Order: sequence, then structure tokens, then C-alpha cells
Amino acid sequence: MIEITLLGTGSPIPDPNRAGPSTLIRADGQVFLVDCGRGVLQRAAAIGVGAAGLSALLITHLHSDHIGDLGDFLITRWISTFAPDPAPLPIIGPPGTAETVEATLKAFGHDIGYRIAHHADLNEPPAVEVHEHTQGPVWDRDGVTIRVAPTDHRPVAPTIGFRIESGSSSVVLAGDTVPCSGLDGLARGADALVHTVIRKDILGSIPQQRVRDVCDYHSSVQEAAATAARAGVGTLVMTHYVPALVPGQEEQWRALAAHEFGGRIELGDDLHRVEV
Ligand SMILES: [Zn+2]
Ligand SMILES: [Zn+2]
Repeated sequence: MIEITLLGTGSPIPDPNRAGPSTLIRADGQVFLVDCGRGVLQRAAAIGVGAAGLSALLITHLHSDHIGDLGDFLITRWISTFAPDPAPLPIIGPPGTAETVEATLKAFGHDIGYRIAHHADLNEPPAVEVHEHTQGPVWDRDGVTIRVAPTDHRPVAPTIGFRIESGSSSVVLAGDTVPCSGLDGLARGADALVHTVIRKDILGSIPQQRVRDVCDYHSSVQEAAATAARAGVGTLVMTHYVPALVPGQEEQWRALAAHEFGGRIELGDDLHRVEV
């Protein structure tokens, strides 16, 4: 069984009720954080998961809403890990991830220096091990495998989706993308597909061009659902709602998806949990 928890279902627009894009996957005793948007550690704390307890950080792409709390995550993990000589945190993302992580650690360089100077048992900066990939297997440990494939979020490139498998269960995390063959292949036959969704019918009529631009490189609810149908997945989990999903309108969003996809459809608030 794999457990999916939507830690943050928001978007770049701050929302009092929705943290930034982040999804937690628990599989076979391993815990993966997929993207680390605004407020991710507060949401994780609500389900008893701390930064020190994560097996790896997976990053779909380097848009600010998906990495906004990277610094908080790296520093908090570092200062809340009490094992001597902790193993480096694996971080898997597209090319550019290593530079982003390095720059983030540099930005927190003063903080890291203060803490090393103050605490006798902190002698090294946060240990990380960054792996950049666009395609193929990226993880094989204790019964859990992960592979990635390119998605299409251009002009943001490269971007990747993840497929996490444990036993006979599989979950695919699409991130932000328009429908594309890379995602179709990655998602084929998966138990669940976690996908960003955009209401193009709403955004398309907003007078600011910058807001309408958002439609260019995301999937609408219908497009995400059509991807789920093409790939033959069991459950579509919608997240990263733009505009924010207003309480009471869940059935409207669900109906748009159900028009294209006959399987189980999940959506909701932060901390919504789905098991496959
Ligand atoms: Zn994005
Ligand atoms: Zn996004």
C-alpha cells in the first residue's frame, strides 16, 4: 500500500487555508516529500512527520511555488537530526537542482555558521546528496523503486514527473505539465496519478494577461482527467488548484474531471489522504 497526503494544495497565490504545492508519499516505511512549497513543514507536523524523518526530497521543477520552503526544510532537518554523522539527504530533481540547493545553503550561510559555532555537536553544514535526472530509474531501496520521465511545462525546462512503486502499488506525481507523451508513459497503469489542475475556463476570462499566461503551461481539470483516462490509472488525485478550490465547489471540479475520466477522483483540502 502507498499512502498519499496532499500537504499543500495551493499555488503561488498565498491562501490562508492552503499551503504551497507539496505531497507526502509513504511507502514501505519510507517517506518521500515531493516538492516543498510554502508552509510544508507546518502541514507535515500536523500528521506527525518531521523534516528529520524523510527518506528523500523529490523535486518536479524549480518554480518558486514548488521550492519556496527549501531553505526552511534543509535547515530544519539539519538542526532536528540528532544522530551522529547523519547520512546525507538524497535530493532528486531536474538539472538545475544542484545549483539551487547550493545557492540556498549559501543564502543560509550565516545561520549555518552561527549554529556550528554555538552547538558542540554540529560540526558540518547540512549534508545533502543531489541527483539530477530527466529520465529513468532514480531509486531502488528496500522494496521501493522510483523512476522519472520528462514532463512539458515549457518554457520551464527541464521538468520531471515521478513514479513511485512499492509491492504491487504505484503512484505517479505529474507536477505542473501540459498533456505529454512523457507523462502518458510514466503514468501507464498506475494506481494513482497526482496532478496539478488549472481552471482555464475561469483564468481565461481574467483581464490580466499575466494571469491568463498560466493557462499556457498547465493542464486544465479536463486535460488532467483525460491524461488519467489515456494512461488507464485507477485514481486521479487533483491538487495545486488554480484558482483556489472554494469550499462547496468540490462537486463542480469533480464533474469536470468525471466528464473525461471514469475512475475514482480525489480532491480536497490540505492533508487530504488517499491510499492505493
Ligand atoms: Zn510550475
Ligand atoms: Zn506550480
